[in-house]
Amino acid sequence: MIYLDTHATTRPSARVIAAVERAMRGCGNAASGHLPGREVSAMVERARAQVAAAAGGIAPGRVVFTSGATEANNLALRGVLAAFRRDGVPRRRLIISAVEHSSVLATARALADQGDAVLTVLPVDSEGAVDPAVLARAIGPDVALVSIMHANNEVGTINPIEALSAACRAARALFHVDACQSFAKVPIRPGAADFVSASAHKLRGPTGVGALLVGSIRLRDWLVPQQTGGTHESGARSGTTNAHAIVGFGVAAEDTRAAWSSGEWERLQRMRDALWAELLRGVGPEWIRLNGTSDFSRRLPQNLNVTFIGVCPYNLDAATRMRVAVSSAAACRSLGGERSHVLEAIGSPDDGATIRFGLGDATEAEVRAAARLFVDAANALRGQGCAIPQG
Ligand code: PMP
Repeated sequence: MIYLDTHATTRPSARVIAAVERAMRGCGNAASGHLPGREVSAMVERARAQVAAAAGGIAPGRVVFTSGATEANNLALRGVLAAFRRDGVPRRRLIISAVEHSSVLATARALADQGDAVLTVLPVDSEGAVDPAVLARAIGPDVALVSIMHANNEVGTINPIEALSAACRAARALFHVDACQSFAKVPIRPGAADFVSASAHKLRGPTGVGALLVGSIRLRDWLVPQQTGGTHESGARSGTTNAHAIVGFGVAAEDTRAAWSSGEWERLQRMRDALWAELLRGVGPEWIRLNGTSDFSRRLPQNLNVTFIGVCPYNLDAATRMRVAVSSAAACRSLGGERSHVLEAIGSPDDGATIRFGLGDATEAEVRAAARLFVDAANALRGQGCAIPQG
């Protein structure tokens, strides 16, 4: 099976697996004062330093470990709005973009439905980016928090974080960035955002662990914990420390940062460009559309999202799924079979089968083989009608 679904998750590296195994062999609760507990706590603090270094050299104390980016996004949105409410600050508006991950979209909608936030959803341009001028027009003194993703998980578009940050600073609104797809890969300047979400399994670490990076220690005052319990993670997130997963996250963050600082972007970009060229040549430019930006300097190099025009998605899936693992929408949605909210937001017509390719550890030969498979299947299936499963 050729694995080309690295936006959904990545294969843990051998170094991560070895580090997690080593950590699991120890026994001790990181919160215990005895020797085994202190050994585990030292491993966790080392991982915290590795994650902080991968975030551009922030202070380790600014890393709050969570169960992943979903929890980090919940903590940022719910925690900040609760702190404003608690302190009687009359800022209740929350601004997000239309292409956020469901963990931001659904959380923002829940806060609005409960009456805890007034929600503004910004449109994106046809490439999937938020225009800073659109944010600047929408923002005002009633805005508590702006939450805009760094890189989109479906079409890979990278948002102009510096310009968006400037708009937030001008309005004195807090700024949260969901960097789940880009963390340790594409840098964000420390200080550009007040809160950044990350997840280990997108960078060859374990599932079920991530972090919310907090822009300054004082900002912890602006996060009301969403779980009550002990005083773990400086009181920001209680629950017995998931030490072995955190150790794996630390190794994964360090290795990813090292790889992306020395040629990983270029390696992936070469493979992605070759894949795109092969598909374009194989099916012909009138039968394939690139979704998202064609300015590849503003797109994750591991991402290619295309629509095979005139091809039934179900038939294409049936013809390819035994040999190649790709996503026909964001993984969380593909089971429900709904149309992608990202493709809707960028105005991509519903005229064929949309495939998200995610490169990572697949070899060049595997990527070429996958391209041939999709070209042959698309050319054979085009215009054949659609066998949409019933029920
Ligand atoms: N945000 C984005 C942009 C994502 O791609 C994902 C994972 N698909 C998440 C948040 C959720 O991350 P996790 O799996 O760590 O909860």
